[in-house]
Amino acid sequence: MKIIKERIVLVVISILILTNCCACNSKSKDKKDKNEETKTTAEFQSMETKRGDEIESIQEYVEGNELKFINENADYYNDSLEVNKFYVYGTHFNFEGSIGIKKLGSNSVESASLCLIDISKSDKDISSKVAGAIKINFENKGKKVNFNASSVINKGLFLENVKQGTYALYVVVKDSKGKNLFLPLENKTKEKDIKYYTVTNLKDQSNREINIYTPNEVEEQKNSKFMFLNCYKKELPEDVYDIVIDPGHGGSDVGAIHGSYYEKDLSLEIAKMVYENLKNQGYKVLITRDGSESNDDYSVYTSYEDNGRVTLACASRAKYALSIHLNSSEADMSKGGVQIYCSSKADTSMARYLADSVVKDANTYTSNLGGSFMREDGVYSHSFGATELAEIRSIAAQYGFAPYDVKRGDDYLYMLRELGGISTNAYTDGRHPQYGKNKWVKANYGIECCLCELAYMSVEEDFNHFMKNKDKYAKGLCNGLIKAIENNK
Ligand SMILES: [Zn+2]
Repeated sequence: MKIIKERIVLVVISILILTNCCACNSKSKDKKDKNEETKTTAEFQSMETKRGDEIESIQEYVEGNELKFINENADYYNDSLEVNKFYVYGTHFNFEGSIGIKKLGSNSVESASLCLIDISKSDKDISSKVAGAIKINFENKGKKVNFNASSVINKGLFLENVKQGTYALYVVVKDSKGKNLFLPLENKTKEKDIKYYTVTNLKDQSNREINIYTPNEVEEQKNSKFMFLNCYKKELPEDVYDIVIDPGHGGSDVGAIHGSYYEKDLSLEIAKMVYENLKNQGYKVLITRDGSESNDDYSVYTSYEDNGRVTLACASRAKYALSIHLNSSEADMSKGGVQIYCSSKADTSMARYLADSVVKDANTYTSNLGGSFMREDGVYSHSFGATELAEIRSIAAQYGFAPYDVKRGDDYLYMLRELGGISTNAYTDGRHPQYGKNKWVKANYGIECCLCELAYMSVEEDFNHFMKNKDKYAKGLCNGLIKAIENNK
């Protein structure tokens, strides 16, 4: 009989973990979602907690917005999950961490979820304080179990759906016996706290600020840094934006050429349309150049100066960026088409929306050149392979600096890489004498960026179609980005 009861509890927990998003969806206004939310809480409350001692102890240190240890020798303290990397990319929080198998007891991990524990609630049962949860990955590796919120950088905990409140970050591990272990996240990194601003809510132009932090008093008390997250309504600071629009090239860097047409002028024309359209919809948008730049500027090399595109974008704390380009190839091509590049470390969801919308709205087609950069229909990631690594080593030798710490698979396109900070392994740290320094190389927050090659200037038919339908290409980019924003959960 007892076994049956435990099975029922297991099923309830499994459902809770699988239906996680309902619990943290703050924007849901319809009744159906509200009901599900209530139901989830109720189910958590009825959840049987087998490790009573440990949970009671955790209860002590999540109360009152600071950690309190009543029993200094309590062994729950050893049950923290050590975080060795955490970051926000676009709209998602992700972390990597591990815990020794010994600390988990002899049982193996069956499933794991990242939970927001609402510390303002005074309930005795910690499980009733779970305000939101997502299923996360785990892997047994020798004497440790490793965890991450997602294997790609643009998924994980969707910050846009976090409700207002203050939460302790926990991983809840379900072991092979159906027990739930509540493991607080302990920050073992040197990373700074993250300040995140949500994308502007178009209904009431409101924003929220989210802080992912480790309180100082915790550090003093136990020489340990547990991770918290708070979220509250706040007006967007003047210098913070939702979206960055980057017209490719500029100044003396004209980009591709077709007759008397320069890519830098066409990318700017499209970018301005996209910029105006998104702004009119209510988003706060930054454009990285407006065409007033000097023709003597080498804009590739000035990207890291104060008014350079990397600096402007990174300083904006935007969630999304589109870098707009036109393509060209020396190869004799009968067909051109759209190519959307995304980070090799991201999944293709945002790029997919962009490619599909541009194809539909501009009545064009995707470019499927194939090759190792193509990930799916019209969606590409150009990453460092043997050729690119050799190239970067040769440049380093030529200028006499130690090669960048770049790895196979890192993004080759600098706008995709440098806007992502540690999530994309940005590396332009000033050692190359021709470039400046990206001050956000070590930032643990980054912008989800796609580089959009709209058409081939070198393919007559593709280029003519583009020239006749520029407004439709711009509309496609806007619609694709909005779909990504609305569906990027
Ligand atoms: Zn270009």
